[in-house]
Amino acid sequence: MNVPKHSFICWIVMHRRPLTRDRLAKMRICQDKECLLCGSNPENIDHLFFECEFSKECLKGVLEWLKIGINKTNIEGIWRRVTRKAKGRCRRSIIKAVAAALIYHI
Ligand SMILES: [Zn+2]
Repeated sequence: MNVPKHSFICWIVMHRRPLTRDRLAKMRICQDKECLLCGSNPENIDHLFFECEFSKECLKGVLEWLKIGINKTNIEGIWRRVTRKAKGRCRRSIIKAVAAALIYHI
């Protein structure tokens, strides 16, 4: 049920390879390391998914909508818990598609 571009970005994030500002700064492409979502912390993968207050609120809203309770804060733990909590093949596919869409949009 995933949108292909959502799956691709999700795959990049799970391999910890998105071009976050800390990586762009190392490549000397971008000088500013601040997070574009909150502007108060350096943007790296751990901050972006889901230590950032903005992304944390997005995750919280999506999890409430899906009626899933999770206390994890790192992307791998959240993905594992979200996919395990889903009962049934169809619901699991929907939850994975929603999680991939959330990661893509963040
Ligand atoms: Zn932030």
